[in-house]
Amino acid sequence: MFINGEWVDAIAGGTFAVTNPATGEEIGRVPDGGPDDARAAIAAADAAFASWSATTPFERADVLLKAWQLMNSRADDLAKLMTTEQGKPLRAARTEVTYAADFLRWFAEEGRRIGGEWLPSGRSDQRFLTVRQPVGVVAMVTPWNYPISMLTRKMGPALAAGCTLVLKPAEATPLCAKAVFDIFVEAGVPAGVINLVTAEDPKPIGDVFTSDPRVRKLTFTGSTAVGKLLAGKAAGALQRVSVELGGHAPFIVYPDADAENAAKGAAALKFLNAGQACISPNRLFVHASQADAFVGTLTKRVGALVTGNGMDDGVGVGPLVNDRAVAKVEAQVEDAAAKGAGVPIGGHRLTDGGLDRGHFFAPTVLTGVTPDMVVYREETFGPVAPVVVYEDVDDVIRMANDTPYGLAAYVYTESLKTALSAFEALRFAIIGINDVNPTSASIPFGGMGDSGLGREGGHEGLDEYLEVKTAGISLR
Ligand code: ADP
Repeated sequence: MFINGEWVDAIAGGTFAVTNPATGEEIGRVPDGGPDDARAAIAAADAAFASWSATTPFERADVLLKAWQLMNSRADDLAKLMTTEQGKPLRAARTEVTYAADFLRWFAEEGRRIGGEWLPSGRSDQRFLTVRQPVGVVAMVTPWNYPISMLTRKMGPALAAGCTLVLKPAEATPLCAKAVFDIFVEAGVPAGVINLVTAEDPKPIGDVFTSDPRVRKLTFTGSTAVGKLLAGKAAGALQRVSVELGGHAPFIVYPDADAENAAKGAAALKFLNAGQACISPNRLFVHASQADAFVGTLTKRVGALVTGNGMDDGVGVGPLVNDRAVAKVEAQVEDAAAKGAGVPIGGHRLTDGGLDRGHFFAPTVLTGVTPDMVVYREETFGPVAPVVVYEDVDDVIRMANDTPYGLAAYVYTESLKTALSAFEALRFAIIGINDVNPTSASIPFGGMGDSGLGREGGHEGLDEYLEVKTAGISLR
């Protein structure tokens, strides 16, 4: 763990194993921190806040730009580490490292524009001045599915704003977190400003984060259940909260869409990270007139995907995070099949050729999916593309919106009117229009409803770490 500028063991001395999800092999051990470690990390962040928040935005930007350069120069090694620890194919890991580094450059630039306003008053002898200041110590809890970019998306803006922080990474991917901390340390982040606590059991750490009055903001990315739990606890200390949670993205193919292009997009998007992404489509609404063409191309593309160890050439789909994840996907597919869904491809675990040592599920297409199936309602987080055929164009937005989640949605149409009407009517915060990658450091990312609170990236991502302070000034 990294506390107050030192790499340290857990106070209680324990460690836990990190394993490769493709092979089951142990690839490292990290300290198993507890509440006392979390409190020591918060104390360090609290002590460092006065001096770090007093640095200029220009100095902080220089540190972030150095970290951006270091991350890019180490991209190949970071990608190999990520593939070994998290499982995604090496090329996808490489792409994630670039995306992760982009947040550091973006927030270095945004941080230089932290300013205030000079505001009018109804009194001729009064003026108002606002400034934006860092919120204070930030506690961060991050997931395993994007184990580097989900860190920089929080640490970049927090550091640019002048906050200090304590981060607890997912227990499945602490080695990527350590590698990110190495970069910040080398880039010149002073002792105490960033602190890393690793733990096999996240709950006691979460309890300390959400009850310690020195923590002024909690930022979390992960499941909706845990996000709600932590946001509820953080309310007790009135901490500012950002939570980026689950999704159940609709992917709408309109009658006038290029069905083949849409199917290619769906195949590329759905199986990214083996479907373990909060913006992964979970209901593919395809108009009846397009269904044969769409399902034909989708199934062909899925049939061409190679599943295996992400380090091997040509592999496009890696393992799932653990066996629980495989069992959940399997149960959703069995439920759908039992209720009448077709399974033109996939639908089962993969065990041949040594894959039984890891956690693999075959890329799967489900057809004839209906609202009574679990997959229609619950997030899958796995390599399953559920196709729902619809007839009534006027009803498809209602069907798409029929979920408590509100993160990403996708629309395929050749009509500007249809696209923009859907963009306005979909109750989701990120909409891909004939586009399967609506993500960038420069845009606000986050969800509505059960998908969360707050935005990361864009200029909104920096506001999450700033307080606005106002002065009323008398000229009398
Ligand atoms: P998943 O089910 O995809 O692993 P989680 O929401 O359980 O998603 O995990 C996301 C992050 O939340 C991880 O860092 C995990 O350790 C952490 N986490 C899970 N449960 C708790 C909890 N009760 N308190 C604090 N952090 C938690």
